[in-house]
This record gives sequence, C-alpha cells and structure tokens, in this order.
Amino acid sequence: MRWSRSCIPTFKENPAEAEIASHRLMLRAGLIRKLTSGVYTFLPFGFKVIKKIEAIVREEMDAIGCQEVLMPVLHPIEIYEESGRLGSFGPELFKLQDGRQRTFALGPTHEEVITMVARDDMKSYRSLPQCLYQILIKFRDEIRPRYGVVRAREFIMKDAYSFHQSGESLDETYRAMEGAYRRIIERCGLSFRMVEAESGYIGGNESHEFVVLAQSGESTILSCACGYAVNVERAAALEPETRTGEQAPAAYERVRTPAMTTVEQVAGFLEVTPREIVKTLLYRTRDRCVAVLVPGDREVNEVKLIRVFDDPQVRFLQPEEIQSLTGGPVGFSGPVGLPAGIAVYADNLVKRYGSMIVGANEGETHLRGVKAGRDFGVERFDDFVWAREGDLCPKCGIPTEKTNGLEVGHIFKLGTKYSQAMKAEFLDEKGQSHPFIMGCYGFGISRMVAAAIEQLHDADGIVWPLSIAPVPLLILAVNMKDADIREAACRLEAECEKRGIETLLDDRDLSPGSKFKDADLVGIPFRLTVGKKLKEGKVELFHRASRQVEEIPLGEAAERIAELIGS
Ligand code: ATP
Ligand code: MG
Repeated sequence: MRWSRSCIPTFKENPAEAEIASHRLMLRAGLIRKLTSGVYTFLPFGFKVIKKIEAIVREEMDAIGCQEVLMPVLHPIEIYEESGRLGSFGPELFKLQDGRQRTFALGPTHEEVITMVARDDMKSYRSLPQCLYQILIKFRDEIRPRYGVVRAREFIMKDAYSFHQSGESLDETYRAMEGAYRRIIERCGLSFRMVEAESGYIGGNESHEFVVLAQSGESTILSCACGYAVNVERAAALEPETRTGEQAPAAYERVRTPAMTTVEQVAGFLEVTPREIVKTLLYRTRDRCVAVLVPGDREVNEVKLIRVFDDPQVRFLQPEEIQSLTGGPVGFSGPVGLPAGIAVYADNLVKRYGSMIVGANEGETHLRGVKAGRDFGVERFDDFVWAREGDLCPKCGIPTEKTNGLEVGHIFKLGTKYSQAMKAEFLDEKGQSHPFIMGCYGFGISRMVAAAIEQLHDADGIVWPLSIAPVPLLILAVNMKDADIREAACRLEAECEKRGIETLLDDRDLSPGSKFKDADLVGIPFRLTVGKKLKEGKVELFHRASRQVEEIPLGEAAERIAELIGS
C-alpha cells in the first residue's frame, strides 16, 4: 500500500485530551479518531492491529475447542430482569426504546443471551461441556470514559461462556482458558501477570485477571517472587505478627483532643503513631447500621465492605446521621458505648492491639487505653482495609511488590448464578434436572491495542511487536522525485508483496526528516530506506525495536525481510 493514498493521518503535537502515552500515540499515529466521549473510529492501521489480535484470539479459542457464534447487540430489557442484573449494572447499561415503546439494552456482556441459548438447546448432559465465544462490540456507559480505547463506552470484546455438568468439568475448561489467554498475550509479544481478582457485578466465586504490565495502567497488582499475584482491590492486608499498643491499663482514660480532625493531628497531639489510633467508620447496610474499626494508618476498601456485608448499596452515614445516632460529631466516633443495634465489625489487624486510642462519641474527645473484648464487643473480625506494597504474600509470607498494568482479560467461575436465576437446566443420567454450572471469559480486543502501545513505546513513538504490527515493513523512499529511487522503491515493494509481505511504501512528497519522524511514530517493525546508498546498490535496514541499522544490497532486501518475519 502507498502512504500517499492511505488514511494514516499523523501529527506532531501532543493532543491535550490524552493523559497516557498509548492514547496520545494512537491519535498521533492515525490509528483512531474520536467521535464523541468514549466512542472511536479505528482507522486503517488501527483496524489492522485489531484484526491481527482477533486472529490470534480466534486461533487460541478454536484450539481449546470453543465454538464461535454471533449474538445480538440489541437485548430486550426483560432478560436483565430475569437474571436480576438490572440493578447491579445500574447506570452503565445503555438503554433505548423501539417504536412501540419497548425498552432494550445495548449488550454490555452476554451472560443472559447465552444462558437462554443453553436453556433451549443444551438439554441433556450428553451435550456437555460446551464453550461458545464471539467477538463483538460491547456498550457500557462508563462513568468516566478515559485513556482513549482503554475505557471506552463502545469497545470490542471477545467473550466466551462455558456450560458444565460438574465443577470438575468447569475447572478443566477454566484451566484451558487460562492457558489460551497466556498464549494469546505471549503471542502478542507482551509481558503480563495473571492475578487473583474481584469478580465485580458479573458475580461468581473465582476469577483471575490478565494484566499487561505498564506503569500508567489503571490496575494495581501486588506480586511476589513465588509467582503469586493479586489485584490490590482483592489483596488481603497481611502484616508480620507484631503487636500494636502497650498492655491496656486497668481502665481507659478520656483525653481532650481539641480541634483535631485527622488521625495524623490526633496522633501528633497525643505523641503516638497513627497506627496506635483505631478509626471507627459508620455505615448503613441493607438492614442496619454498622461500625467498622480499622487501624489509623489504613483505609477501608469499599469492595471488601460490599463482600463482607453482601450488599452493593452499603454506604457511609451522613454527618447528621452520625450525630443523632452516636451523640458525637463525625470524626469522633468510637466503639465504646455505641447504642445497641449498631454491630461492631473490625479489621483482622485490630486483633493485634494490646490497647488502642479511639473516638469517644463526643466532640474533641478520645479514649485512650481501650481494649477490645473488655470495653466493647466485636461481632466479627474480617478483612476490610486496602492492602499495600510490603503486605505479606499469603502463599509464602514474603513482602509483596507493587506493579501497575492494564487488565486485558478476565476469567470467572460463575457457578449457577445465571442458570439458577434464569432456570436454565439440563437433565442428568437419571433424568433429573440441574442448573448448568457456568464459566465466562472476557478479553478486551480494543483495549489490547492500547496495552501493547503502553508497554512497548519509546520517546519517538510506537514500537509494535511483529505479530500485531499493522504491517511488518515500511519502505521509505527518501525522495520520490528521484527516478532511480522511485523505481528501486517500487520494485522492492512489488517484490516484497509477491512474497506475501504486507508493505507500506512511504511515497509522500515530504522532507526525509518528516518521513523518518513519522516512521518512528507509527512504529512498523522493519524499515527499508531507499536513499543515497542506492548509488552503491544498497538500502538501509532499520529495526524499530532495537534501533539497529544495517546496510544490505538492494537485491537481497526482500529475501532478508522475508527471513526476519518468517514468512
Ligand atoms: P474494568 O474493571 O476495567 O471496568 P470489567 O471488570 O468491567 O473491567 P469485564 O466485564 O471483565 O471488565 O470485561 C472483560 C474485558 O473487557 C476487560 O478485561 C477489558 O479488557 C475489557 N473492557 C471492559 N470494559 C472496557 C471498556 N470500558 N473499554 C474497553 N475495554 C473494556
Ligand atoms: Mg467495568
């Protein structure tokens, strides 16, 4: 293909709207253009990358026996009522009405649709297990679309769903899918970690994310030399066994803490570390108010709260509610003397306190020398706080390290969540019916394009791995007005294409400097420059990733490229 007649529009300036490198580079290298917030067109080179990733994903899905299908984008809203997911999706679901005022959703994922297929068409255990997948555009009205195609409102996903008679069969497919995901990302030339993850509103009980490592990634993971890695959202806050606070005195004392609103201020004033203070946070769950106690130097992780209380609506109490419930202002709540009916929960780390400093449920006052069990009761200890770097690996006890990355894939063991809600059942050997045991497996194809750029770019532009580069070869004709150069470049192009090497010939009427800059920006793995060395019968071969340059005879160039790309 010829650059002069292709829609690969590049530009030099960094677009103000782009916060991360991949977003900047996708715009600058002419891979995508924005239509509106979170909605993008993939231009020819962007779409070529998409198709290469899709091809790898298809091969790996087919290789583990998944069958490709194509499900509708338009979903009658009733199916979400049936699965019970209307509430949990909340505002992320795009809704629209047809001419008869019936409400539809634009598919954000397809558990409901595929469960209906299984319900109608996989009635016997003899047809199990089965795994179906598709590659389709998904719609999610993300609260904060950002980073270009990383968090878009319309994006391309591969989603697969498996149906089983037993948990063992699900385990087998889950492992096969893990292997397929590992191969997909390796074949795309990227480094990644598989991490234990939260399953979010998709539900279910076990899930893993595949995170492409990149500094600016939205996902934070804690990992250990033993190979264990976990999403920080889910990571347990495990610390070495050390005790906090002295042995408690015979009774606690009241201390004045005037005009102190933060843990740091109180700690400074009382000459203790923030750790010696225990924060009391008050929440409303579905059916009651609860107090949650956490160490002063840790923060509550809302995802863990939701899990412990099994209530996605759990929320902070308002200052007025706190005042009327406890008699004290916000910031001075504590577990001692709370009205009956407020259950006290505490983070596991609170067990380690010999004594603690807590709020007194009274303005500008704290209690010092408080002891759990003696001064207040704890209904349950659990894991409530955000883990952080240095917390211990649950597998081997070594301090973990923090890394960032972009989640590109997510696999879940759903169990019977959907099949039960939607009464999707099969008959076993004895003619008894059971809900299908299910798994679901998502892979973000369009996000993967950004993830590759995010991991592999340099100061000059994109550095495509060969397997997913839009094309493997760029022929850069330094000056198309020079007849020798033009003729050699066109001959080289024809020869490469004859060998099946997809080639972009930069035949634009631009200065050599602009062409070299664009070549670096667009990041094609190999570049053959046809320029002043042509007089000696030579062209320059440039390797984008290593920036290594070699001079090779023009006559051998096509052969050499064919060898390099193994075609
Ligand atoms: P996130 O936590 O990033 O919102 P999710 O848990 O909502 O992701 P899944 O429902 O598991 O994502 O979707 C499977 C895959 O689809 C993700 O791993 C990701 O690669 C991709 N994906 C999800 N949401 C988006 C989005 N808004 N834009 C682009 N890709 C997305
Ligand atoms: Mg999401």
